[in-house]
Amino acid sequence: MISIKTFFKVIALTIFIVACASDDDSNGNRNPRILNLQSTGNSANELLSSKTHNKLILELVAVKGFEPKKEAVENLVNFIEKRTFKSNGVQVIQRSIASTNKKKLSIKQIDSIEQKNRTQLSTPNQHAIFIYFSDADANPENSEGEMNNDNDSMSSLVLGSAYRNTSMVVYENTLKKIVNQSNSVIPDEVLARVETFTLQHEFCHLLGLVNLGTRMQTPHEDTDENGKPNKHCNVRGCLMQANALFESNLMGNIKALELDPLCVKDLQANGGR
Ligand SMILES: [Zn+2]
Ligand SMILES: [Zn+2]
Repeated sequence: MISIKTFFKVIALTIFIVACASDDDSNGNRNPRILNLQSTGNSANELLSSKTHNKLILELVAVKGFEPKKEAVENLVNFIEKRTFKSNGVQVIQRSIASTNKKKLSIKQIDSIEQKNRTQLSTPNQHAIFIYFSDADANPENSEGEMNNDNDSMSSLVLGSAYRNTSMVVYENTLKKIVNQSNSVIPDEVLARVETFTLQHEFCHLLGLVNLGTRMQTPHEDTDENGKPNKHCNVRGCLMQANALFESNLMGNIKALELDPLCVKDLQANGGR
């Protein structure tokens, strides 16, 4: 039996923080989207606890042909149920839409796709999360995110982004490319694993990790190459590391990443479990 091990390094999962929208107009007519226009991490406590919001709706909108694997969606729901208190459960609403026919999309462009296609909005007692599965890659030039550039050709790929308090994008086309390059004999399973990782990582930014609306109980925020805190975890192997290192072999066994105890403690201290 031959065992060939390859390592492929992926990816700055960058986060984007969009400035808060202004509250309400002078007539007192509130924008119905106001609860979904906050900064990333701002709703962490409401998403984690059941104090005010005891139900969660996941609205998954995918470009046709770029839908997530069923297993990845189930894994995300299980993850949410494991880490949060939602007595009225987690509901998934999924549909597919046409492509924008663009090769790359900035967060601004993804935001306008959201504004056109999002149907589920948060209310004072339940939150809705919008997740877009894109057939276009990330366009870093037009975004506020910082890319991690070392000279590895795989290293500048962005898998996903959490932007605002209840919005996420998964760059499904990028994920598919990574899986193709891994030459796995079980590409569907590998894709489901990478989707699971991306969904859980980005969702954890909405839950306020790391130091993004959920206070650290013990300092464990990582820094970028300039020494600036980067809203990621410095514990090696944690789901919330900035650069995921997938270990893979020809059988496509990608190790599933999990939250380390420090990240879990932070969530628990902010109303999660
Ligand atoms: Zn991240
Ligand atoms: Zn961590």
